[in-house]
Amino acid sequence: MTKKNHIKKAAKIIQDGGLVAFPTETVYGLGANALNPDAVIKIFEAKQRPSFDPLIVHICDIKDIDCLCLNVDERVYKLAKRFWPGPLTIILPKKDIVPDIVTSGLSTVAIRMPAHDVALQLIDKAGCPIAAPSANKFGKLSPTKAEHVMKQLSDVDLIIDGGKTTVGIESTVISLSPAGFKILRPGVITEEEIEFIIPRDNSIKINDGSLVSPGLLKSHYSPIKPLSIFKDGDYYPESKKIGYLAFQKNNLTLHYSTVEILSEKGDLKEAAVNLFGALHRLEDSDVDMIVADPVPEVGVGVAIMDRLRKASYTKNEKY
Ligand code: AMP
Ligand code: MG
Repeated sequence: MTKKNHIKKAAKIIQDGGLVAFPTETVYGLGANALNPDAVIKIFEAKQRPSFDPLIVHICDIKDIDCLCLNVDERVYKLAKRFWPGPLTIILPKKDIVPDIVTSGLSTVAIRMPAHDVALQLIDKAGCPIAAPSANKFGKLSPTKAEHVMKQLSDVDLIIDGGKTTVGIESTVISLSPAGFKILRPGVITEEEIEFIIPRDNSIKINDGSLVSPGLLKSHYSPIKPLSIFKDGDYYPESKKIGYLAFQKNNLTLHYSTVEILSEKGDLKEAAVNLFGALHRLEDSDVDMIVADPVPEVGVGVAIMDRLRKASYTKNEKY
């Protein structure tokens, strides 16, 4: 089947209330008609996602914001002009047309325009906004290839294979207060880049341990094997088969039988692209546990460390 026919078939499934897994530039999404509560409930069931975790609604035209959201101010259009289509999700007050199940009962909705021609064509052909979280079981590794979706989900009407995703980690999520924006989830678009466009709300402390956004749990994005973030001098028993997730090429890789290098030359964007693919391979290998290098917490390194900490949470009692 050609890509065009796939999209036509997928759009029909969305219109009929079914589920389609499709590529975006971040990770693969599991999509349903965002305006149809019966369709959206299937996403929660297929992912075993708790109902308190709201979904991101994907649009293909900036004008669609006004159909879904209230009080859209100038800042939103500035951000959209700079970053959309792209990996930035903005939380905005919702209109009644957005069903409560999409937002977990919140009065706000998360909106994004993905930078992927398959995703954009699918939304356009379906003729409705598409609610789509990552196409994996809740709390597990995000999919950056169609095979990763097949590995985890069975209740999907169609999976569109668009190859490996080009960004590799989930979108940056921000909320807006009158004073400015705050980051709820770090992603490849950094705080500094956003601050270049609109002011930051300095009154809010992030990373103070409180739950800043529903669904942002301490444990998330976890491989089925225990994962520890490597500290220099750490010792791991030889009885265990250990997989090593290295940030870049280094001599330690010689000591492990199973190694994944995120970026030979230590490029953070490249590391982000490869992160989930490498974790999927390690999870599928015969290792008993995974040790991961920390990466520098600058730029997209902030988002990579966020994912690694969540992947290691509750499993950091080593072995
Ligand atoms: P994902 O699982 O990648 O679809 O990401 C969705 C995440 O966006 C959720 O887990 C929340 O953390 C965040 N989110 C979605 N909607 C809202 C909202 N209305 N308010 C705050 N955070 C939200
Ligand atoms: Mg997810």
